[in-house]
Amino acid sequence: MNRSLLEKLLAAYGPSGNEGAVRAALEDALRGHVDSLSTDALGNLIAVRKGDGTGKRIMLSAHMDHIGLIVIDADKHGFLRVCAVGGVDAENMISAHVVFANGVEGVIDAQPVKDGKRPAVGDLFIDIGAQDREEALSRVEIGDMCVMKPRVTPLGEHRLSSPAMDDRVACFVQAEALLALEETGCKNEIVAVFSAQEEVGSRGARTAAYALQPDLGIVIDVTGTGDTPGVKPRLPMKLGGGAAVKIMDSYAISTPWVVQMMLDEAQKANIPVQREVLPYGGTDADVIQQSRAGVPVGVISIPCRYIHSAAETVDLRDVQAALDLLLACVRA
Ligand SMILES: [Zn+2]
Repeated sequence: MNRSLLEKLLAAYGPSGNEGAVRAALEDALRGHVDSLSTDALGNLIAVRKGDGTGKRIMLSAHMDHIGLIVIDADKHGFLRVCAVGGVDAENMISAHVVFANGVEGVIDAQPVKDGKRPAVGDLFIDIGAQDREEALSRVEIGDMCVMKPRVTPLGEHRLSSPAMDDRVACFVQAEALLALEETGCKNEIVAVFSAQEEVGSRGARTAAYALQPDLGIVIDVTGTGDTPGVKPRLPMKLGGGAAVKIMDSYAISTPWVVQMMLDEAQKANIPVQREVLPYGGTDADVIQQSRAGVPVGVISIPCRYIHSAAETVDLRDVQAALDLLLACVRA
């Protein structure tokens, strides 16, 4: 496994709608190794590996964007006030370090809330070390976005923790699959979308699916786990249990024959997998499934603890299993 590509992707600045640095890192990794590489109006990066003309057109999708915060004001003491870009849980942001596109860094805290209440994004403020409003707004402007500062922390032998694991680990899997296909070829045409703006409603995958008209969609994303103390709701997925084959989440029910194809391919190739039911959340799958007259879809998920926090944690054995399963499915 090419850890340096994964770490490059984890380090790239890329809140929703501003995925340029992630796209550049992927272009560097893929240029010359795929049949074509292009960027569309939404900012999706689309890499094509041609088939032999007898297979399906398979659209893959892994999103490049990461949740963040956007500046709406600064108070007279120089603290920035923000609103959310994507599904931000305010509690998870407290004490995180953040970085803006221009390199300005800050730390997040929340103003006190009433007893028994949880802080909302409107209670958060960012301290960038400014003395007053004027200084703050000379260093960042209204409308600038920040993300949690990238850092990669190994946990034990197999696990890695980093803020942008959702979904750069899947961009990594998708890029590695394209590189593997360069050597072996494949009868199916693989159109790999590194999608923009998933965290704000799969806006990139929506237009890409419309343009590409695939015969099959396979999404790669992270999913929650039920293996930490007291976690609610109950979830069957666990870290180290293999790639997860999604059956359902809040936005999509995977196409049954695609689920079965994934489980069959896993069994044939001895790839560890687990069945996934996620009673919340969604991925790019629903907009692909509902594109034009409809597209069959499946999702290969990478189990991840502490999603949408500064500590998103995966097990590299599950990442390998997701890559193996993706390759088995696109070659089927
Ligand atoms: Zn995601």
